[in-house]
Amino acid sequence: MVKLTEGRGKELFRKYGVPVPKGAIARSPEEAERVLRSGAVPCPCVVKAQVLAGGRGKGGAVRFASTPEEGKAAAAAILGSTFQEETVREVLLEEKVAIARELYVSIALDRTARLPVLMTSARGGVEVESVPDEEIERQPVEPFPGLAAYERRRASRSLGLAGALVGELDRLLSSLYQLFDHEDAELVEINPLAVVGERLVALDAKVIIEDDASFRHPEYATLRDDRTPLEELAREKEIAFVQLDGNIGVIANGAGLTMATLDVLKEFGGAPGVFLDLGGTDDPKKVTEAFLLMAQARPRAVFLNIFGGVTRCDTVANGLVAALGTVPPADRFPLVARIRGNHEEEGLAILRAAGITSVPDLRASVQAVVAAAKEW
Ligand code: ADP
Ligand code: MG
Repeated sequence: MVKLTEGRGKELFRKYGVPVPKGAIARSPEEAERVLRSGAVPCPCVVKAQVLAGGRGKGGAVRFASTPEEGKAAAAAILGSTFQEETVREVLLEEKVAIARELYVSIALDRTARLPVLMTSARGGVEVESVPDEEIERQPVEPFPGLAAYERRRASRSLGLAGALVGELDRLLSSLYQLFDHEDAELVEINPLAVVGERLVALDAKVIIEDDASFRHPEYATLRDDRTPLEELAREKEIAFVQLDGNIGVIANGAGLTMATLDVLKEFGGAPGVFLDLGGTDDPKKVTEAFLLMAQARPRAVFLNIFGGVTRCDTVANGLVAALGTVPPADRFPLVARIRGNHEEEGLAILRAAGITSVPDLRASVQAVVAAAKEW
């Protein structure tokens, strides 16, 4: 998933004709002061931390300044600080506009409806999750004709707009839909969209580019910063590896079995911390790399749930024993294995000979791994 910062989102807004305030990025307090003194961004201004998390306004990461000196001080206070575990490396300096009303507008891919959905609400400026459903207008959009004129008018009505603002919204929505479409976005959100006199101005920008379209957008490749360092490493090695909040590692083969394993673990009170999908592989080199990655994630216990279909259980077991041998002793973890399927008996014998706890029953094996994680 490529999530753009507000500043990058607003660059796209400009490109497609969605109105935004005058703004510029600064990476140091001095640079901020220079930009404000030059008048490129006029004062009074707003200094906004460029992090991916929302709720910056409430969290002190959006500050107002009436002079370049104040702007510099605000930038100094924000730059280098952490906001929801993200270090602030850039601020967006922006002219402060006189807000009459704050509205909400977004276009999101609705995977259930299999269509983009235009969402509008007169209750902008607050988290949309806190707005009651009946105060949000939702309109599915047919992607081939695109956003229709009557849909744009209906949005206008839902926002309570009149006069020149109706035409303003009409143009803005056409531009926003074009952006959503051409950039292969899964979300474009403006919250708030401000009414400023007879104009509409996007004060915030949230843009997420659809992962499956990344091959069409090499320009976003460097912006992928939502992966953990270990996930990045795994990706380079072409291993499906995802880190979560818990403390139990899961190694399974195939996406279906992996997901089901996470569910069962949760059901028995376990907290999956990382999962790794071996897919169809029994390539010993890849299995070894997978184990070393798992070790680096420092799980308290690991549950290995393998189904031997085409791949024989004894081949997998041999690979695992060899792989485990390469994990440095300090990084080893308690392991509970369950392997079922083709040549299961032979596989179990190999695991047991290597001293690996092996429980064929699903419930019993999950209980064993949850207990092992607690004992640690
Ligand atoms: P977040 O969603 O992370 O809280 P926003 O960009 O929505 O950050 O900013 C929070 C609030 O700050 C907005 O709801 C708006 O009231 C105010 N604000 C943001 N940018 C400007 C601006 N350029 N001029 C005036 N007010 C602004
Ligand atoms: Mg916002």
